[in-house]
Amino acid sequence: MKPSSLLAAATLAGSLIASVQGQGIDYAKIEILREKIGPNLYMLSGSAGADPGHEDAAGGRIGVLSGPDGIFMVDAQYAQITDKVVAAIRKISSEPIRFLVNTHVHGDHTAGNANFVKMGALLFAREELREELLHQPAPAAGNPAPARDPARLPMVTYGMGEPVKFRMNGEIVDLIPVRAAHTGGDTMIRFENADVIMIGDFYRNYGYPFIDTNNGGTLKGALEALDATMKIAGPNTRLIPGHGTIINRTDIVPYRDMILAVQTKVQQMIGQGKSEQEVLAAKVTAPYDAKVPGGLLPAGAAGTSADRFVRMVYSQLKGGK
Ligand SMILES: [Zn+2]
Repeated sequence: MKPSSLLAAATLAGSLIASVQGQGIDYAKIEILREKIGPNLYMLSGSAGADPGHEDAAGGRIGVLSGPDGIFMVDAQYAQITDKVVAAIRKISSEPIRFLVNTHVHGDHTAGNANFVKMGALLFAREELREELLHQPAPAAGNPAPARDPARLPMVTYGMGEPVKFRMNGEIVDLIPVRAAHTGGDTMIRFENADVIMIGDFYRNYGYPFIDTNNGGTLKGALEALDATMKIAGPNTRLIPGHGTIINRTDIVPYRDMILAVQTKVQQMIGQGKSEQEVLAAKVTAPYDAKVPGGLLPAGAAGTSADRFVRMVYSQLKGGK
């Protein structure tokens, strides 16, 4: 390779890494928006237009349960905006932030962990999530490079099995472990009295499904998680994804059907001996593209969100990663 083309290759690799690590995020521009969900339950979201990986709302959604027993918090957003998150929480309550739980490993949900732990929060998460944080590979699209502060790691971990329960502030909170879905260490957080479940990222309605197989996610597990959600949720239960709009049980059905239809189509093409490139070129998501906002937007180095989804389905069905 000539020096000039080496330089070009290095520059291209550098810009790919920059986009994968989410260096395009304009942290200064992010505002924290507050939504009241129950008498003492709030959701905090980043504002739109500041995070190229999440154009509709920067970072991952945070849950805040307030009351005399102290604050219980779900997910920790980007580390760079902890001050803004704390300011938003202080508008809800001046109680100490006692407990923090992570829905899954990605930086838009965990990068702020260490900041909240140093403020006194006790961090809970799946044992698998702790392992994923310890051995974090290249971050998923839109997420910043992982911080290495030991305080980011959960002090209390749990596996599959019965939910961990918190009884505080007049609420019963269940940490419900999910078998490998969006990642290998997903948890749903259910607020029984408010009739709300924070479901993390195995469902999304901005962009196509993202299953992070590098962090232990599986297509089969994501489908099982959707089935489990439909079983656990009642007709009026509000399901709150890590990104996008709040839904209920009936919204899961077309989403699941879409995944199954794409899976069937890709399986047929694999049966015909088609390569990954041929499957991508066939645009198997075309019937859904108009109904999936953000579906054709770039999603890191893997192409569009649709391409990333189809690649994942192809490799999962091929039995690889
Ligand atoms: Zn995620």
